[in-house]
Amino acid sequence: MKIICIGRNYKDHIKELNNTIPKEICFFLKPETAIPLKNHPFFIPDFSNNIHHEVELVVKICKTGKHIEQIFSHKYYNEITLGIDFTARDIQEKLKSEGKSWEKSKAFDGSAPVGCFIKKTQFKNINNLNFELKVNNKIKQKGNTSNMIFNIDYIISYISKFITLKKGDLIFTGTPSGVGKVEKHDKISAYLEEEEVLKINIK
Ligand code: MG
Repeated sequence: MKIICIGRNYKDHIKELNNTIPKEICFFLKPETAIPLKNHPFFIPDFSNNIHHEVELVVKICKTGKHIEQIFSHKYYNEITLGIDFTARDIQEKLKSEGKSWEKSKAFDGSAPVGCFIKKTQFKNINNLNFELKVNNKIKQKGNTSNMIFNIDYIISYISKFITLKKGDLIFTGTPSGVGKVEKHDKISAYLEEEEVLKINIK
């Protein structure tokens, strides 16, 4: 099982980090060990002083696919939820400035908590879903999937040109604006169309 994450998929977030709008999808991988054990907290790692939350819509792949045509992408996932792409922003900024790959700042243990999955048939339109992240009950991030630069069907088709997708693989589809530092004792919760799907404490 693998986790594929899209970088820079919402214009408001690209602006807040002073990045440029991509013409092509940018993706990176996280290993299975990035998913914390069920109901475990997120432990701030000692190698970073600036861990950011990035709430993202997550798609679970339901069958193997390679070179998937965009019109068939919808057949390759049945369930969605929200996840947090925890990012060691201090390390990422350094790697970016040196032109190096981001993995060290993105793929560490526990960096990809995932909420409970909901069948996509429960939603009217996957490409118009509201989601938000609260820290200590205050809204920090608010997004809508209609604001993605690259939509889910396009993402699945694009990734499958390079990497075979397999049942159980997860795709993190990018974060909207409002990313910020987490602190010890913070309580994080994420809502998909007002339903709480993910809760995690910071330790
Ligand atoms: Mg992200």
